[in-house]
Amino acid sequence: MTDAPTYGFDTLQIHAGAKPDPATGARQVPIYQTTAYVFRDAEHAAKLFNLQEVGYIYSRLTNPTVAALQERIATLEGGVGGVCCSSGHAAQLMALFPLMQPGRNIVVSTRLYGGTVTQFSQTIKRFGWSAKFVDFDDMDAIKAAIDDDTRAVFCEAIANPGGHITDLDAVSAVSDAAGIPLIVDNTSATPYLCRPIEHGATLVVHSTTKYLTGNGTVTGGCVVDSGKFDWAANDKFPSLSEPEPAYHGLKFAETFGPLAFTFHGIAIGLRDLGMTMNPQAAHYTLMGIETLSLRMERHVENAVKLATWLEKDARVDYVTYAGLPSSPYNKLVPKICPKGAGALFTIAVKGGYDACVKLVDNLEIFSHVANLGDARSLIIHSASTTHRQLTAEQQEAAGAGPNIVRLSIGIEDADDLIADLDQALAKATA
Ligand SMILES: *Cc1c(COP(=O)(O)O)cnc(C)c1O
Repeated sequence: MTDAPTYGFDTLQIHAGAKPDPATGARQVPIYQTTAYVFRDAEHAAKLFNLQEVGYIYSRLTNPTVAALQERIATLEGGVGGVCCSSGHAAQLMALFPLMQPGRNIVVSTRLYGGTVTQFSQTIKRFGWSAKFVDFDDMDAIKAAIDDDTRAVFCEAIANPGGHITDLDAVSAVSDAAGIPLIVDNTSATPYLCRPIEHGATLVVHSTTKYLTGNGTVTGGCVVDSGKFDWAANDKFPSLSEPEPAYHGLKFAETFGPLAFTFHGIAIGLRDLGMTMNPQAAHYTLMGIETLSLRMERHVENAVKLATWLEKDARVDYVTYAGLPSSPYNKLVPKICPKGAGALFTIAVKGGYDACVKLVDNLEIFSHVANLGDARSLIIHSASTTHRQLTAEQQEAAGAGPNIVRLSIGIEDADDLIADLDQALAKATA
């Protein structure tokens, strides 16, 4: 099924990237549990190593099971290519690596997954990179933060932890005007709810650990390229536009055109950084994606029911769910994520830090874990866990203050989830 655009999402989530195994006819994508691949002859090997022919060399770079997943995610996102890697955090580094050099910066939203805030505010400094954190509701602030050294703009489509929706069309207008790629983390939305490339994103990154796999079994990540950015328009992206010494002076942008970023990700990124997804993980994620649309519909339906119930509850100060008419982000739902605002939001609990801790300790169906996008409902008190390393100001800016818990609504019976929250809120606020 290579003429992908003619099929609907539900068909593609099962078939894209997969065809019966040429050797055995196996209908399901086999787990190609192999490290290396036999070359036809020495000339074949030389061509593969020169990137003159596409094929399998060594599973740090490419593996057929992983390749099926890459094609499936890229197809669902409407991109030209994808590179899977070992985690969502690996995907973020793999997205930035070809764009960055020491002294360069990225302009990023203050509302990001806690681990991403740490990766961007601390760890990337060791590479000589830096991040400027800006309120992504304020387009003038984004514009003002972009300078001559900025090489990317980064945000989440539906932002963790509050479920706030980013106006991707407005943000991409700013990044386009500056000639800078927009990278969108689409983990919380998934391509079923939001397709960032249609709103101007250059690259889409995923933690496949979450909804794409959907059952909390394996970590993984993916970078999808829209194929739309001209890396050779100026001298800002030499890794992609200038001769690559490790490949006899090959220029990725010139040789691979719209696939330049994807080829670079495999031939340089995975080859030298080695943040590879293994075929077992790819298998679990392929299984998960087959039911993505069905699960997301139920996730959204349950999230609407729970958020509506919580908003009316006297023990709760407020609910941030963008799917509620009261949310200032509700007006962006039809434009950015017309099938629903996801299933991730926060609530402010009366009684602050202590009540939040009691709430998470008294829930029976909800699990207290540092994860989201699982079939089962999850809760976390961000201020004492994922956002613990942040300053009080960073916590507030990220929507993760001491009185806030984040809910990731699963696909169980909504009535059971409401009853569970009811009994635990009673104990928390007694
Ligand atoms: C979990 C998560 C990440 C990091 O992904 P890992 O697979 O845990 O490395 C990045 N962004 C968002 C929005 C996430 O939820």
